[in-house]
Amino acid sequence: MNGWQVRLLEAAPQVGGRARRVLHQGLPLDNGQHILIGAYRETLRLMQAVGIDTEQQLCRLPLRLRRPDGSGLQLPAWPAPWNMLVAILTAHGWRWQDKLSLTQHAMRWRLNQFQCDDAMTVAMLCRDLSPAVMSLLIEPLCVSALNLPSQEASAKVFLRVMQDALMGGAGSSDMLIPRCDLSQLWPDTAVKWLQQQGADIITGCPVHSLDEWAADPVVLACPAWEAAKLTATSHPAWSALASQLQHTAITTVYLQTDQALHWPSPVMALHSDTQAPAQFAFDKGQLCQQSPMQGVLALVVSASQGDRQATTEAVLRQARDQLGLQQTQALMTVVEKRAAFACVPGLRRPPAQLGNNLVACGDYIDGPYPATLEGAVQSGVHAVDLLASCRIGENAS
Ligand SMILES: Cc1cc2nc3c(=O)[nH]c(=O)nc-3n(C[C@H](O)[C@H](O)[C@H](O)COP(=O)(O)OP(=O)(O)OC[C@H]3O[C@@H](n4cnc5c(N)ncnc54)[C@H](O)[C@@H]3O)c2cc1C
Repeated sequence: MNGWQVRLLEAAPQVGGRARRVLHQGLPLDNGQHILIGAYRETLRLMQAVGIDTEQQLCRLPLRLRRPDGSGLQLPAWPAPWNMLVAILTAHGWRWQDKLSLTQHAMRWRLNQFQCDDAMTVAMLCRDLSPAVMSLLIEPLCVSALNLPSQEASAKVFLRVMQDALMGGAGSSDMLIPRCDLSQLWPDTAVKWLQQQGADIITGCPVHSLDEWAADPVVLACPAWEAAKLTATSHPAWSALASQLQHTAITTVYLQTDQALHWPSPVMALHSDTQAPAQFAFDKGQLCQQSPMQGVLALVVSASQGDRQATTEAVLRQARDQLGLQQTQALMTVVEKRAAFACVPGLRRPPAQLGNNLVACGDYIDGPYPATLEGAVQSGVHAVDLLASCRIGENAS
């Protein structure tokens, strides 16, 4: 590990943070359904570096935003930008004017190199697009990437995700959906790899103060609100930036059905509004192909507002009305209140460097991505690079 002797102190009984397994009566579910995309290059690189077979463990599918009634669009497995063009032309539920105006918008974004004013929201960026295009494409992409509706989400960050997904080379826009639970997917293997390299992994060990580590190089890899507490006295300006971030919730409702699901794909886009809050449904049986997971569904409510009971009931009704599932019961509902920082226009995020020997990483640290696995991983890699360059500087002087 580049000559470092690593010690990892984790507050929780297990590693994995927000992307971890949660057992329900022995069933390996997650703290929330996660989805990666092909553009997550650092994430995939690090997973492969610790020995994970990403082709085996992740189900790779071309981007699909189709609803049960067939409306919406699906990208063919063609190179960009032809895949997007064909998807727009063959989309169901749009008029020709809608398709033309979306194509013009996409070309304009590309011509402007996916840049826009920092103060713009996604709704402002897309103000000339029709309601059908907004509801079948922009809203689902925006809420799943930034966990905010288009009226509140940063257009600049949205365009960056679109650029990486649509123009990032072959497979960048593919959805990569875990075939196993999230702990098995990554943290468990990562811990074994770290231990093989001689690292000390200590779980159930919250750090209450950074003082005792003052002589050591430290990577502060906890959520924004914890990092703000730990740095309040030593780095008040940085701590203030971290503590001003607002957060938005994601609710995952796990359902069990006895009905056979003959979905053409393990993921289905849903019509979503206040009465029917889930945007996506996942057939865990089709993904995991293990018998206990047959009939298990995960319905995801990004930017969720309601309480657990009301959301669960609304999602059960939505599964009945939109997916035709009559005999369905709720297994478990996970409400993660601080799932993602609110990625609003003009947001100031804390930088990675706090001092010579102290750096911070996490999805909330200043960077191009919203609160995602890729944002967290890129930030982690950058933090370690910063520490390494400080060490080189010290050795040289
Ligand atoms: C329900 C849900 C769905 C999501 N879906 C997606 C998705 O589909 N795609 C995607 O890319 N991203 C998704 N995300 C976001 C993704 O999970 C996060 O961006 C990512 O996990 C953030 O990683 P992190 O290391 O920055 O923080 P965390 O995962 O929060 O890890 C921080 C760690 O610090 C530990 N800690 C806290 N305080 C202390 C302390 N004082 N001492 C020691 N340890 C401490 C915590 O226990 C935790 O393990 C989702 C998140 C949620 C909650």
